Amino acid sequence: MRAARYYGNGDIRIEEIEEPTVGPGQVGVDVAWCGICGTDLHEFKDGPIFCPKPGHPHPISGEDAPITLGHEFSGVVSSLGEGVTDLEIGQHVVVEPYIIREGVNTGPDSRDYHLSPDMNFIGLAGRGGGLGEKIAVARRWVHPISNDVPLDQAALIEPLSVGYHAVERSGAKAGDVAIVGGAGPIGLLTAAVLKAQGATVVISELSPLRRQKALDTKVADHAFDPREVDVVEEVKKLTDGRGADVAFECTSVQPAMDTLVEALRPQGVLVIVSIWGQRGSFDMQQIVLKELDVRGTIAYVNSHPGTIKLVEEGKINLAPFITGKIGLDGLISEGFDTLINRNETAVKILVSPSGKGL
Ligand SMILES: [Zn+2]
Repeated sequence: MRAARYYGNGDIRIEEIEEPTVGPGQVGVDVAWCGICGTDLHEFKDGPIFCPKPGHPHPISGEDAPITLGHEFSGVVSSLGEGVTDLEIGQHVVVEPYIIREGVNTGPDSRDYHLSPDMNFIGLAGRGGGLGEKIAVARRWVHPISNDVPLDQAALIEPLSVGYHAVERSGAKAGDVAIVGGAGPIGLLTAAVLKAQGATVVISELSPLRRQKALDTKVADHAFDPREVDVVEEVKKLTDGRGADVAFECTSVQPAMDTLVEALRPQGVLVIVSIWGQRGSFDMQQIVLKELDVRGTIAYVNSHPGTIKLVEEGKINLAPFITGKIGLDGLISEGFDTLINRNETAVKILVSPSGKGL
């Protein structure tokens, strides 16, 4: 089968590799669509970060580069390993792409398996990836999804789960006013979850194209350019002078974070969603005098079932976030190049590893 494999910085190759064997307790999946993530771009441009370097195998997967990429994918069950009896061939599924140590509690009651030592991701640190035609995944990480949800939209469940968990971390409730800093893919999908759960959403974003996307997809009620309007004042106008209940930092840019801190009401919650490659700073006096809560969030933990439900119930339409569809051969020339150099119009570019559906 064909797969995109990460060898190192700037070196991703489309290769013919052996099909995975489906072991006991595993599910064989024919990958339908796999999204390209900012993390994949980072590995390509600045990596290896998550991908284990040659000669330094990941402590859980035991694998090192080359690694098959792709962690945002949907597919169809093609075979069932010994002992897997609760899925059927042909069932649509998405994968929660974790690599987690044996013995960690990953049951439905766990709130922290994603924070366990050496946690990493399928498609970044081994165990195959969504940028290959087929994959074998432990049953625990395979989530069935209604066959009524198109498989291309299902590939966005993984990044949507990141937004879902971020919203969970904030404690946002219906009727709250939320401000999201940044309308990149994760900002937009976080906004989508907030809207689906009944919040009023304000987005602060520099790019006019991204602001337009946020309004067109109806995930934002208001989208402001922080260079043109005083976003804090606008939020105050919308909240009778109080400020926003919750804020989501999705830019890793200092001025954007400063705006969120100012826009929050007393005892508001700031959730840091983006990955910061550099140190940031806070106006400590505002945090103290307003008793703000600052919370981090990473990936997801038992978030897939709730996320899938929002999509199955039609509360979130993922179709408008798909801005391109390509085959494996266009991965770098069309996919990565667009996302690195022309990323204002692109939200999610999906790859069909088999070429089916293109
Ligand atoms: Zn991702």
